[in-house]
Amino acid sequence: MLRVVNPHHWLDERGDPPLDNARIRRQVLRIARLIEYGGPLASGESRETLVECSMRPGRKPCPGLLWVVKVENDDIYCYCMSCKRDEVLIHDWQDTIWAEGMMEPVPPEPERPRSSQPN
Ligand SMILES: [Zn+2]
Repeated sequence: MLRVVNPHHWLDERGDPPLDNARIRRQVLRIARLIEYGGPLASGESRETLVECSMRPGRKPCPGLLWVVKVENDDIYCYCMSCKRDEVLIHDWQDTIWAEGMMEPVPPEPERPRSSQPN
């Protein structure tokens, strides 16, 4: 079943996912990941993502990973090649903070505590 998604329906006024609704936040972050994978593609290009399929055919989680394709009108079409049941079409994504792909690398913050401190 195809779901058509406009991320702006869920984002707050700063363009961030909501903090006060965990379920919506999970959904928005899933869409954000798909935008991050699909936004930088040229028209007609596709790639596999590390976003898991959300379907449960036969009550078991589908093992598939979603693919993203940049289709007509610059929309991002996402689908599971394994079960062919999880389908999302994302439009109006171009001015979200994920449109350009992953953030550019930056040096680590010097004041950030390290996970493994020497004795
Ligand atoms: Zn699937």
